[in-house]
Amino acid sequence: MNILKKTAFLLFTLCVVSCTTTKKEMNKSNSYANDTHSYAKPNEAVAKHLLLDVEVDFDKEVIKGTAAYSIESTNASEIVFDAKNLKIHQTTVDGKEVAFSLGTNDPILGQSLTIPITKNAKKVAISYETTDKTEALQFLNPQQTADKAFPFLLTQGQAILTRTWIPIQDSPQVRLTYTAKVKVPKELMAIMSAENPKVKSENGQYSFEMRQPISPYLIALAVGDLVYKEISPRTGVYAEKSMIDKVHYEFADMEKMVNAAENLYGTYVWDQFDVVVLPPSFPFGGMENPRLTFATPTVVAGDRSLTSLIAHELAHSWSGNLVTNATWNDFWLNEGFTVYFEMRIMEALYGKEYANMLASIGRQDLAEQLESFHDKPEATHLKLDLKGKNPDDGMNSIAYDKGYLFLRTLEETVGRYKMDTFLKGYFNKHAFSTMTTEKFIKYLNTELLEKNKVSFNINDWVYNAGVPANAAKIVSDKFQKVEEAIENWKKGTLSDHELCAKDWNIQQKIHFIRNIPATISIEKFTTLDNACQFSSATNSYIAMVWFEQAINHNYHANNVDVHIENFLMTVGRRWYVSTLYRAFKRADKLEEAKRIYEKARPNYHSVTVNTIDDMLGVSY
Ligand SMILES: [Zn+2]
Repeated sequence: MNILKKTAFLLFTLCVVSCTTTKKEMNKSNSYANDTHSYAKPNEAVAKHLLLDVEVDFDKEVIKGTAAYSIESTNASEIVFDAKNLKIHQTTVDGKEVAFSLGTNDPILGQSLTIPITKNAKKVAISYETTDKTEALQFLNPQQTADKAFPFLLTQGQAILTRTWIPIQDSPQVRLTYTAKVKVPKELMAIMSAENPKVKSENGQYSFEMRQPISPYLIALAVGDLVYKEISPRTGVYAEKSMIDKVHYEFADMEKMVNAAENLYGTYVWDQFDVVVLPPSFPFGGMENPRLTFATPTVVAGDRSLTSLIAHELAHSWSGNLVTNATWNDFWLNEGFTVYFEMRIMEALYGKEYANMLASIGRQDLAEQLESFHDKPEATHLKLDLKGKNPDDGMNSIAYDKGYLFLRTLEETVGRYKMDTFLKGYFNKHAFSTMTTEKFIKYLNTELLEKNKVSFNINDWVYNAGVPANAAKIVSDKFQKVEEAIENWKKGTLSDHELCAKDWNIQQKIHFIRNIPATISIEKFTTLDNACQFSSATNSYIAMVWFEQAINHNYHANNVDVHIENFLMTVGRRWYVSTLYRAFKRADKLEEAKRIYEKARPNYHSVTVNTIDDMLGVSY
């Protein structure tokens, strides 16, 4: 029965891939949107398949080798790639060396790499190596890993960093398949966002294959002393040895999550869903690299309390990886849909109240983000204009939480059944293609609103600032209990010890800490910490929100300063560390922030470094 199921599934996958490809082939001319964050001209000449053949040199901290592409062109005399801080050695077209040219270097975009081609050119190969200015790669020394025995390498491609380790047409709309040969030191295992061997090779040679066309930002590589442990035949985890059992326990519900997601919006078409837990410098909570989500160890809490992150990355297998934002101005299509889908998965597994708690946390994040953008309202539009800016600027709560609120409001307007039918059809119809905001709005109008004779203020949501008045109200009963407790605690009718003894889950504790009034006295803050021991919390999320409050309240007891410094020295997750550095800055403690940052900075990935350099106004 298993074999039959798998065969049927394979046939389905092949059909989705080849049918979509055929459709695309038929109208490929001028089908790509204008992407201001890429030099590539895919309407003229486009890469369809990458054969990557590289070696990872841990001594020199470089990757070197060849990126060879199968290309298609419409009478073009050249093909243009993106390259940033790469050394390009040689380029060939169908095996013959040709002279390439590099354009001027833009600090955000890097350079265009132009290679002359003839009308019938089929293959272009680029031999290259990375430099110490690479932004995607992070080489870690053994001390920065869990087992402290071997070095580690991780990549982060989103948004436009893949071009700093592979010369590529680095626009999300240029989907391509890839195969890769990667050579690493024989003590280490290499894994990619592709079909993985799951075991260490004897000679350090690894081969990978990604048969479904994906966007360049989703090409990912991790190299370390990793082991694999299966959760179900199609789900499992990679981690360093000392972490693997903890990680396996933490993410035990992965198969249930995939099932819940499939019940909502259709078959999981990527075959395998694995997660690799990386060292703590990884700049994001998670990155939805297809077949192999990259995750921060800060979500391995020991009590499965932060696993909504896995639901989020899994949801990207539909929203983001299957239907992809055409440009970074449309980023909300990736993230707003994914947060909505994440909440639905969490609701299916753990109930509506749990999902509402998570949504309420996002709603508070959104309120704070809107407040921080009060002097630049255009940054609160769902559709952005990031021309001339780093696309990273658009990666904030607006795309995620305003995007979610839009979809939730839409759901409450049309009803869940119609919403789900619409979304299932949307993912199915646009599988393996890219989506602009305008194309989505047109589809939404015809397939959901007009069909059901419903009117909805789409333009207000997408092209205007702030949150429209018809936004869904998110109410969590469990959070209301927390808010009542805060009131009683403020009045003194609830003691610190009674408060700490409450049977609250992690999200309730987070809600409590985030909503400690700014006006409470330092004495009350101190007795609270003495009773609840928040300063020495082991849950990373609790620690982060408590440390933020400690900085806000100018609180220094219970060794909290040491705990904050240790946290910033070890963790590189951008959301966490930027929250704390921002708190220092707001509290007029910029010098303290800079003192810690100078020491911690070498531990952070470039994604985090860029944000914090900018925030603290420093450059090194
Ligand atoms: Zn996401």
